[in-house]
Amino acid sequence: MAYEPPDFYGVEELLTEDERMIRDAVRGWVTDRVLPIIADHYLAGTFPTGLIPEMAELGLLGAGIEGYGCPGLGAVAYGLILQELERGDSGIRSFASVQGSLVMWPIRNFGSEEQKKRWLPALHKGEAIGCFGLTEPDHGSDPGGMETRAVKRGDRYVLNGAKMWITNGSQAHVAVVWAKLDGVVRGFLVEKGTPGFLQRSMGKKFSLRASDTSELVLQDVAVPLTSILPGVEGLKGPLNCLTQARGGIAWGVCGAAMACYDEARRYALQRIQFGKPIGQFQLVQSKLAEMLTEITKMQLLNLRMGRLKEAGKVTPQQVSMAKRNACHHALEIARSCRSVLGANGITAEYQVMRHMCNLESVITYEGTHDIHTLILGHALTGLDAFR
Ligand SMILES: Cc1cc2nc3c(=O)[nH]c(=O)nc-3n(C[C@H](O)[C@H](O)[C@H](O)COP(=O)(O)OP(=O)(O)OC[C@H]3O[C@@H](n4cnc5c(N)ncnc54)[C@H](O)[C@@H]3O)c2cc1C
Repeated sequence: MAYEPPDFYGVEELLTEDERMIRDAVRGWVTDRVLPIIADHYLAGTFPTGLIPEMAELGLLGAGIEGYGCPGLGAVAYGLILQELERGDSGIRSFASVQGSLVMWPIRNFGSEEQKKRWLPALHKGEAIGCFGLTEPDHGSDPGGMETRAVKRGDRYVLNGAKMWITNGSQAHVAVVWAKLDGVVRGFLVEKGTPGFLQRSMGKKFSLRASDTSELVLQDVAVPLTSILPGVEGLKGPLNCLTQARGGIAWGVCGAAMACYDEARRYALQRIQFGKPIGQFQLVQSKLAEMLTEITKMQLLNLRMGRLKEAGKVTPQQVSMAKRNACHHALEIARSCRSVLGANGITAEYQVMRHMCNLESVITYEGTHDIHTLILGHALTGLDAFR
């Protein structure tokens, strides 16, 4: 049955023709190429690498990056791409977000000319895959405590440390690794195959199963001096990257929520209990009404965030609000949809439980719900409640 995306407030009318065209192209690709295979990949715990060249062909990798062969799309068009990708699966959207916002964006904004020329076209074409290594086994919400160190020795930097929970980590050809050099956080481009650099896939996940989540181990990894990202120093480097990616997450999880809502509404109309479609019962209608209301609020907030970004006016705190709100409600919607589907809701025949499990990761990564609450609390009061 054809997907009927919810659009209760006619957000469609606020998009440009180009934005609608891009969204529809990705929507069609997700329907044709992602949905038929994603449940099997999820159950097998594998990322569908065969889709990477197709995503590249569609121009989805680093679609918001300007120059170096990349299309430089506006924030709304880019957000709509991520919304549609996550309608397929959070793992697919995570792949694209990391590649575009956490690898290409820092290279574009903080990299040397040589780094940009070498990596951006290859990453856009999907010929190279990138990952972003910030989180460590003992430092998640507080990345400033990172223990990974870089030391200058002759014509090399030597890196030691470990990064954990790294999306695209085992397949990446280039890792953006954040490490302290003389006590200051700096970014380094570390290439696959560099002696002492281990990229190990992490198993036993219940969430984001169709995504490569890995550990990076750096043992005396010597990289050329040209591997450092020259354009940024301090924690603002990785934090600025995360602001880029978090905006995309707000769009993405809206897509997951739209997919769940569409499935639950359809199911409620077809499933007969007590001689009626369950959609005729007030309690089920109440759930659907709540879901649609929250999806509509997400759509409007995302659109406004995107337009502010295009005007160069969006603040990190506004992005935090959108990420926090969208992840919270998308997860609630997925849980509620699962309940509408009853026992069927726990199977891979339907999407809801896969999205629900994925969203547990998405609400955690790039700043947990609680951390974004503290960011907003700080913005509102001027008082820091982190420590
Ligand atoms: C599937 C997946 C993919 C990921 N991909 C990447 C990636 O590509 N690159 C990368 O660098 N990282 C990645 N991460 C890591 C992610 O960003 C971290 O998990 C996240 O930042 C939280 O860190 P933590 O898990 O160490 O939790 P912790 O920081 O240990 O937090 C545990 C709990 O304590 C709470 N907490 C912490 N500090 C405070 C405080 N001051 N006040 C109140 N509550 C607090 C948190 O909200 C949370 O509820 C990924 C994670 C997952 C699950």
